[in-house]
Amino acid sequence: MALDLKKRKPRDIVYADDLKIEWRDGVVSHYPFLTLRDACPCASCVDELTGEKVLDQASISKDIHIKSADYVGNYALRIDWSDGHNTGIYSFRFLREYFDMAVEQGGFPGGPHPRES
Ligand SMILES: [Zn+2]
Repeated sequence: MALDLKKRKPRDIVYADDLKIEWRDGVVSHYPFLTLRDACPCASCVDELTGEKVLDQASISKDIHIKSADYVGNYALRIDWSDGHNTGIYSFRFLREYFDMAVEQGGFPGGPHPRES
């Protein structure tokens, strides 16, 4: 798959009922909070050596939401979750690939169908 970095830059990011990213190529992706929290790529949620997920989705509160989010350089988003977890750095590349994969496979891993609008 060709890697177009420009496409992987967001034009706009909104978090209200979910995380919505409007990408520069016009795609708009929605990430349910629970799905996104579950996909946290940080070292306490994913084993750094094996790449295996350590976080149990069942341990995440159903009403999980984003308290705040900040840009990390111009390549990623650091999310401060309502459960106090704030070490997850979600690169835009990861977010876009995660969404594209969900569209392709008809759903987020263990989650709902991706929504575009
Ligand atoms: Zn994490």
